[in-house]
Order: sequence, then C-alpha cells, then structure tokens
Amino acid sequence: MIKENISQVLENIKTACEKSGRNPEEVTLVAVSKTKPVAMLKQAYEAGSRDFGENKVQEIMDKYPQLPSDIRWHMIGHLQRNKVKYIIEHAALIHSVDSLRLAEEISRQAEKKQIHANILVEVNIAQEESKFGIFREEAIQLVENISKLPWISVKGLMTIAPFVTNPEDNRKYFRGIRELSVDIMHKNIDNVTMSTLSMGMTGDYMVAVEEGATIVRVGTGIFGERNYPL
Ligand SMILES: *Cc1c(COP(=O)(O)O)cnc(C)c1O
Repeated sequence: MIKENISQVLENIKTACEKSGRNPEEVTLVAVSKTKPVAMLKQAYEAGSRDFGENKVQEIMDKYPQLPSDIRWHMIGHLQRNKVKYIIEHAALIHSVDSLRLAEEISRQAEKKQIHANILVEVNIAQEESKFGIFREEAIQLVENISKLPWISVKGLMTIAPFVTNPEDNRKYFRGIRELSVDIMHKNIDNVTMSTLSMGMTGDYMVAVEEGATIVRVGTGIFGERNYPL
C-alpha cells in the first residue's frame, strides 16, 4: 500500500511538472512520517524514499537509530531553542526557522559540532493566527540577519498553506511564496540561496509543484490518515 501510494504521488508530481514545463528531478518528495511506526517508514524506505519529515525532535531521536543512515531527516515542525542541540546533527534541513533567536541557537550548536546547518525560513503567507512563521513583510529582514550567522545557510522558504478543500484556493499563496523568493534572490545576499521552496501537502501538492515547489511534504497521501491530529 505504501509503495503504491508513493508511486501515485510521484506520478502526480510528474504530471504537475509536465503541465508547468518543469523537470520532475527538481522536486523532492519528503515522506511525512510523524506519528507513524518505524515499520511503515521501513516500507517507504524500501520503496525508495530517502527523505522523511518529522515535526517533533523526540520522534526524530527515537526513529533515526532504527533506520538506515542514508535517510535525510527533515525537521518540519515548530522547533524550540532548547531542543536544537538534540537534532542539529540529524536534521539534513530545518524547514521551520521563524526567528533570529532560533537561528542564532542553530548556528551556535552547529559550531559546536563543526557542521553547517541548512535551513529554510518559514513564512506564514496567509497570515493565519494559528500558524507559526513570519509574515511576508518581515522575511527579507530576517533572511538578511540570519545570513550574517557563520554556521548556517539559508536555502530557501517554507510555508504551510491554509487547510482548504479546493487546492486551487492555495495557488495564490504558493505563487506569493515563489515571488517572495525571487525578490530575496535579487538582493544577492551572501550565504543565501533561494533554491528551495518547501510547499504543498497531501491536499495541494500538485498545485504547489505547478507554482514552483522544489520540496513537497506528503504524509496522509503516503501513510494514510494519522490516528491523532498533530
Ligand atoms: C503533517 C505535516 C505535513 C503533511 O500533512 P499531510 O496533509 O498529511 O500530507 C506537511 N507539512 C507539515 C509542516 C506538517 O506538519
């Protein structure tokens, strides 16, 4: 089942790429495995997945030792500063940076381990009160400030679009993120690339790909419904 789901998602990504004149190789599927048992992650791994997304530090800590070491773990959930030290070595990409203070802690912990941390800045594009992430107007300033930190590289932007029944309703937000990334790119800030746009989930990833997503984060569409909402 998981294998078939992954094939279907990859097929849909390909279709969205064809529709928008993109190369499917530009798009990485992150399998969002939060709340799901290791046995299911192994199935996804066997079906070819190497990028897994989790939203809790503890869950990454529990799972990574039980799975092959060539997995790239994506931290996609809100990250508390006091937990950065636990995942700094295990997260290939931290998608959820929304403050300078958090970025400073990431840089500090990365220095301790003598590694370079790759991050995305999370933008609350629809300005929803319930969501983390900075507003669009604050993004350029935050990226500029983070760019001065020595052990951290900004690779792009991430957004969690509103929950909608018609994915077309989110197209304007995905487009907005893409435009914002182009604006930031044109600033030519040292240490900053805007090569990565993490946007699109089970309900709307095809629209996100049409609008330029380079990472889509799909949970339910691969592993089925979660038992409890997170
Ligand atoms: C849970 C989660 C997803 C995946 O959601 P689905 O609708 O199950 O695909 C993607 N991104 C983030 C940040 C999440 O927390």
